[in-house]
Amino acid sequence: MKMPKFNLNWTYMIVILLLAYMFYTNSGNSNSFQKEVSYSEFQEYVQKGYARNIVVNKGDGNVRMYIQKPYVGEIFGKAAEAGRDPSVVAEFPDVSDVNQFLAAEKEAKHFTGKIQYDANSNFLGSLFLNILFPVLLILGFWMLIFRRAGGGGGGIFSVGKSRAQLYEKGSKMNITFNDVAGQDEAKQEVQEIVKFLKDPKKYTELGGKIPKGALLVGPPGTGKTLLAKAVAGEAGVPFFSLSGSDFVEMFVGVGASRVRDLFRQAKEKSPCIVFIDEIDAVGRARGKNPSMGGNDERESTLNQLLTEMDGFGTNSGIIVMAATNRADILDKALLRAGRFDRQIHVELPGLPERKQIFLVHVKPLKMDETVNLDLLSRQTPGFSGADIANVCNEAALIAARHDKQAVGMQDFLDAIDRIIGGLEKKTKVMTQEEKRSIAIHEAGHATISWFCQYADPLIKVTIVPRGQALGAAWYLPEERVNVTKEQMLDKICSLLGGRAAEELFTGHISTGALNDLERANKMAFSMVAYYGMSDNLYNISYYTAQQDYFQKPYSDITAKQIDEEVKALIAQQYDRAKQLLTEHSDGHGQVAQLLIDNEVIFAEDVEQIFGKRQWTSRSDEIIAENERLAKERAEAEEKELDKKEKEQKDEIDKLIPNS
Ligand code: ADP
Ligand code: ZN
Repeated sequence: MKMPKFNLNWTYMIVILLLAYMFYTNSGNSNSFQKEVSYSEFQEYVQKGYARNIVVNKGDGNVRMYIQKPYVGEIFGKAAEAGRDPSVVAEFPDVSDVNQFLAAEKEAKHFTGKIQYDANSNFLGSLFLNILFPVLLILGFWMLIFRRAGGGGGGIFSVGKSRAQLYEKGSKMNITFNDVAGQDEAKQEVQEIVKFLKDPKKYTELGGKIPKGALLVGPPGTGKTLLAKAVAGEAGVPFFSLSGSDFVEMFVGVGASRVRDLFRQAKEKSPCIVFIDEIDAVGRARGKNPSMGGNDERESTLNQLLTEMDGFGTNSGIIVMAATNRADILDKALLRAGRFDRQIHVELPGLPERKQIFLVHVKPLKMDETVNLDLLSRQTPGFSGADIANVCNEAALIAARHDKQAVGMQDFLDAIDRIIGGLEKKTKVMTQEEKRSIAIHEAGHATISWFCQYADPLIKVTIVPRGQALGAAWYLPEERVNVTKEQMLDKICSLLGGRAAEELFTGHISTGALNDLERANKMAFSMVAYYGMSDNLYNISYYTAQQDYFQKPYSDITAKQIDEEVKALIAQQYDRAKQLLTEHSDGHGQVAQLLIDNEVIFAEDVEQIFGKRQWTSRSDEIIAENERLAKERAEAEEKELDKKEKEQKDEIDKLIPNS
């Protein structure tokens, strides 16, 4: 059996137990089981032969008599209650008196025990027991608690130290951008940071300000930490890494002092990168809920962080990178210019990126020829980079369990199943079924917007989940100053297109349409209640600048009417959407399939299926108009130039005499 590891805690424990033991055994002698008696009583007891031992204490001026067992009852009443080694104490008038008396008693054989002379021993003992011991006890506990709090790091004094892990140049961390697959936009953004760290002079000489912080925003496992490490690796600078929750401790003031310590360390190593993962643990908006209290500690930590970020000059070369998956809950002060002023979005990978990530993570694996990475990337919609790394690892484990020589396709598929089963609740991993229904939904929006004159023109459609949305279609919103009824109706129709497609082509309707329905209903309500666009409440507006939800500016009957109008309007547009979709069901099916295959499709792809859109959008018109103007201007300039040239030529011709 292994012995428990020796550490200082054991010594503390042993010392405390020892002291406790001494405390109790001693108190048995000197405190509880003794009786103060007069000197004459003491003499009487000795003469009666009760005494076993006698201690003469010159310092205290008393004499203590330990009683022989059989006589304990005579003095204390019940012998049992007197406990171990009971004694009586008497003050003596003079030491020589005592000596004489005891010598006489010894002579008379009343007393045969020992006589001890003990100067001051009691005083020291009681000092120790009554004052020093409790202090030691408290000290011991204190140490124990602080050692626990210090995480076993360096004991008591390391509570306020930062827990940042430091990766230096040449250590095992040499991650480069090649290790980060996909995320091209994010990589491009951080490239500038690398350039600065490598050659800060180039920027500062021109008077440019160097970014102090960059915030990486994105769902967990998408490679935010990886990206920050790659920046450090590429720039060849030290990398401090810690999590936002490392600042938070049960002791007040610890967070702030850890922040101070972190930046002190960072300054020593500058230029360097400080990476704070999950910054929302400290960076949450302050004072949102003052009645709750108890946030002071986090606030002071955050304040310290802000102060430090303002404190170091732009040239000191510390760049703070932080990661979060919720930028919206961060304190606005953190996002201000000069702090985390640039936000870099790191999104879940799409189909081609997933293949690249697979390529990175299958490198160390031994695989057979059945493995098809294209198919695997198709099978893993909604997986993050971390999930894919997990799939590769799991596949290797499954293959090993079956004693295989190489990892095969089936192992990968099993691994995917396992991870979908395990992850479903945590991230937005989709099954093929879900992917299909989301594709049908998004294709519905795309189709309707293609065939409604006033719907916003489509830019791209994706079924890669992002944020709360499962899929999304990007439109070029037309910034109209004035909106007509037809335009609003078309907008509602295309919003309902997703749900309509689900109902028509899958037979089920799903919760994915929540956001669409919400927006459609709001728009319909405003058409009826504010803009007076419905038949029954024609030209009547119940709009008030100050919305008061308790006092509506209309009667209950009108409220009912409004409800009915809104319902009718929505139903009408829903029917229209279904009709349009039925008409173009072929094309819709193709768009949906294209989405399933590619995950992201663009307006051009839709155009290939449906043909050119019948209407040019207003933005197209504006662009065309601008182009026309530019062309006119260019032509005019050219003419001007020509004219000038000609004039110059004429002048030269004039100067040169005709030959
Ligand atoms: P985050 O910090 O965003 O939660 P990490 O950076 O810790 O995610 O990523 C966890 C792991 O997932 C990484 O160590 C890496 O193995 C893998 N990973 C994530 N994104 C990528 C990517 N784009 N390319 C390669 N591997 C990735
Ligand atoms: Zn939708």
